[in-house]
Amino acid sequence: MLILGIETSCDETGVALYDSEQGLLAHALFSQIDMHADYGGVVPELASRDHVRKLLPLCDQVLADAGRIRGDIEGITYTAGPGLVGALMVGGSVAHALGFALGVPVLGVHHMEGHLLAPMLEDNPPAFPFVALLVSGGHTQLVLVNGIGEYEMLGESVDDAAGEAFDKTAKMLGLDYPGGPRVAALAENGTEGRYRFPRPMTDRPGLDFSFSGLKTFTLNTVSAAEKAGGLDDQTRADIALAFEAAVVDTLTIKCRRALEQTCSKRLVIAGGVSANKRLRAGMEKMADKLGAGVFYARPEFCTDNGAMIAYAGCQRMKAGQRDGDRIVAVPRWPMNSLPPIGEPRGN
Ligand code: ATP
Ligand code: MG
Ligand code: FE
Repeated sequence: MLILGIETSCDETGVALYDSEQGLLAHALFSQIDMHADYGGVVPELASRDHVRKLLPLCDQVLADAGRIRGDIEGITYTAGPGLVGALMVGGSVAHALGFALGVPVLGVHHMEGHLLAPMLEDNPPAFPFVALLVSGGHTQLVLVNGIGEYEMLGESVDDAAGEAFDKTAKMLGLDYPGGPRVAALAENGTEGRYRFPRPMTDRPGLDFSFSGLKTFTLNTVSAAEKAGGLDDQTRADIALAFEAAVVDTLTIKCRRALEQTCSKRLVIAGGVSANKRLRAGMEKMADKLGAGVFYARPEFCTDNGAMIAYAGCQRMKAGQRDGDRIVAVPRWPMNSLPPIGEPRGN
């Protein structure tokens, strides 16, 4: 089954063609980061308008790249939430219009289920069940995954997401959005041990996270360094490293707990922050000691992309799930409310 996948939940227009027999055939991404940079954050109306401009050209591009035509498409999947409602509506409208015109089924997909299943696009995909750490710009969650749509929430952030903490720390260090990769690059020149940041909520039992305190800790450290004679490049790098090490340690400690608690030998890390090299290395070291394996997507499929939406949607469509006539756009949508694969959805 040849699926066209469309992602427009925020500031990235992502499109991909995935074939259930042949795998991923093509994918394309346009990031709006430069457009929003002048405003210091994503402007929802501008995001929607840019998705309108870029979406159909990107669809044509992936078809051309794969040597296919619109008539070859057998199903269309799009991100139905969570995300910015206007941006979601653009993807949903294009998906439904194309589906109607081509006479093929259409299905709205959960963005976080897309992130969660992205590692399945790699060689040696994880078997169910597994523990998953979803770690992105808007989410930090530990989930026990028994199958597609069988999600048991083990823990989550009580305040900021880890990616958000990276982005805010970046801003305080004078770096642009998205902050994660920039903080990581700066940290490479950092001096180990010059600063020590706390590991929030690791001294008590449980699998929840909190990252807003780390942000305050960064702010205080930056202010103190400024007062003490200026924030030179080495100091910025040392702060970046101390922050990154604290996030990685915190996430690793909770993942170890989750693996032990569920007696699981497989850990999936997904979402933008799972592209972080220090995090991957930390998780692998921890999992090795437990005799467990760690699975993640290639870096470009850790952040938002169309391939994960094509893949996740394809699995559900093969099981018979389809949208009705209505476009589905759900800005807030808990992932554990999804039906198991195979069970019809009531929308
Ligand atoms: P959500 O998926 O929760 O709705 P989102 O779509 O904005 O949020 P993603 O696209 O999955 O989030 O990921 C973006 C986030 O990942 C940003 O916060 C970014 O700073 C972070 N990120 C990307 N690469 C890295 C990296 N190498 N190290 C740390 N953080 C990173
Ligand atoms: Mg993004
Ligand atoms: Fe995302």
